[in-house]
Amino acid sequence: MSASILELFTEPSKQWVDSAFSGRVPGTQLLHGQEGGLLWGAALLYTKHLLCGEASGACDRCANCVQAENLTHPDLRLSYPHLTAQSKKKDVGIDASTHGLFREFKKANKFPLMSAWQQHLSADKKSLLIPASEAHALTLWLSTKPMMSSRKVIILWMPERLNHHAANQLLKTFEEPSAHVTIILISHDPERVLGTILSRCQQVFIPPARQLSQWLVDSQNISHEQAALLEELSMASPGLALDYLSNREGLARPVAAFVQLMRFAYKQDPVALLAWSDSMAAWTREELAAFLRLSGGLLSQLGRLKHGLSFRPVFEWFPDISFKAKGFTKLLNTEGMLLMHQQLSDAQTDVRRNLNAKVVLYDMALGIMKAF
Ligand SMILES: [Zn+2]
Repeated sequence: MSASILELFTEPSKQWVDSAFSGRVPGTQLLHGQEGGLLWGAALLYTKHLLCGEASGACDRCANCVQAENLTHPDLRLSYPHLTAQSKKKDVGIDASTHGLFREFKKANKFPLMSAWQQHLSADKKSLLIPASEAHALTLWLSTKPMMSSRKVIILWMPERLNHHAANQLLKTFEEPSAHVTIILISHDPERVLGTILSRCQQVFIPPARQLSQWLVDSQNISHEQAALLEELSMASPGLALDYLSNREGLARPVAAFVQLMRFAYKQDPVALLAWSDSMAAWTREELAAFLRLSGGLLSQLGRLKHGLSFRPVFEWFPDISFKAKGFTKLLNTEGMLLMHQQLSDAQTDVRRNLNAKVVLYDMALGIMKAF
């Protein structure tokens, strides 16, 4: 892979990363943006600038830079959702072997997805959290002086998964961090972060990748057409695009579910839609969120076909799923497609809020039925 992730950064993201050496560094910041996006990349570059301490940015050669790059710097602490049994000791937090697993995972996944971390932990159906014991350990860790650099940095992935006690434990630390402390929270769902935490953070939005398809062509050796499809399906999230690319079989299941939904909705068959919602409700929240996200991309592809653009839609990647996408678009109207997008996006919000999946999906399916 020769293409650098820097090519994916838009100007605002670059400016934020550079502010680590050129401007004021706030104590607590919350980066938000899409999962599988550029948030981790930005946070790690920013951290490297801070730990290196060179006035013109990280030198990439000193011990600070090398260890920050390897995620082994003693003044950098990573925190992330895990199985609560992995952080039993209150003063240590996440145990050493879990940190080892996370480093391994993070090195293989520059744009990490929660579902992939869950798989890496072999914890598919279990819920991963940041419990109070970990929050306590973070507070203790911050209370000592830096060892190697002039700063200590915490990168905490998904503050939306701090349990209530953990969030309360961290509030005071976030409010008055010592001068040598920088805390970076990485959130994909800031609406679910406790308001009292949000209000203590400077918020920074990290936009989706720019020119992702070109980057995919250069780094993955795939065709322009395939890269453009992946960019569209992933809404320019490199992590999702790479996941779709490496795991086509994983993509077949949600694509098939989308095709079923479209068919039953077109046939105006509420009974079939109810059965469909029932079977979908057995999927995990992560899978449902991914399905709904992907469905938005699939619908956009149908829209482009409808407008006469010529390309090979993703449905054709799966000969087992018989679906004549081009013909099907004749059954859709532009107004209705906008309604469908709205239904999908509302359902995403409701699934994230942990509402009853079957009810949410059936509601959405009926909405989509009415849009034909
Ligand atoms: Zn350096």
